[in-house]
Amino acid sequence: MATGVIQYKTEEEIDLMRAAAQLLARAHGEVASLVREGATTRQLDSRAEEFIRDHGAFPSFKGYNNFPHSLCLSPNSVVVHGFATDEPLRSGDILSVDCGVLLNGYHADSAYTYAIGEVSAEVQRLLTETKASLYKGIEQAVSGNRVGDISYAIQNYVGPKGFGVVRELVGHGVGAKLHEKPEVPNYGKRGSGPKLQVGMTLAIEPMITLGKKDVVQEKDGWTIRTRDKKPAAHFEHTVVVRKDRAEILTSFEFIEQALSSK
Ligand code: MG
Ligand code: MG
Repeated sequence: MATGVIQYKTEEEIDLMRAAAQLLARAHGEVASLVREGATTRQLDSRAEEFIRDHGAFPSFKGYNNFPHSLCLSPNSVVVHGFATDEPLRSGDILSVDCGVLLNGYHADSAYTYAIGEVSAEVQRLLTETKASLYKGIEQAVSGNRVGDISYAIQNYVGPKGFGVVRELVGHGVGAKLHEKPEVPNYGKRGSGPKLQVGMTLAIEPMITLGKKDVVQEKDGWTIRTRDKKPAAHFEHTVVVRKDRAEILTSFEFIEQALSSK
């Protein structure tokens, strides 16, 4: 996955990443306005790509290791890296929409999991608690802490609630490359791993399951699904490590606006 050393960003570089992240937040809002029962993930993918390109940017995932789409679209038991399809979304489904934007040489990366129509109470709880775990992780992204403090905070929030924490896929540094050092697992020990310093830019992304933590990869070489076929949720922000409080560069503001106006 990520190679090389940790890339600490200057404030000028962070300004460029903030611009990419703001465009990404708006792209997510565009997608959110189309997410409904009967829509296809191919429609969402097309809209995201069009919106990002219309704003002079590039969808980070398109062509990444030959990934064929602009979004990763992961319904129900698909954890991450799902393909766009012509299958209509149905009430009761959940759908993770993961998107990356490359603007002026810098990437931003974020993901949100939607409930389509009416979902069961346990699935709604999975979504609510996975999102909450993201912010528990982000709270730890301050200088002087270590990567393991982020990891532990996520695991320690969702694990005791009975959810599974996926091990095989992790968060990551992000910047001029989509995947940089360090890896940011969603499980781990407090006080372990690389030290966090101001200027580190991280994609923190809990991937949490309603059943067991084990995942399998499908024959397409991308799609990651839970082994027990139980649903999985995924939320992600791109953040900057700061002294007292992490700065969240991406935003769910436009998603939540679109959802509340439905
Ligand atoms: Mg992502
Ligand atoms: Mg990511």
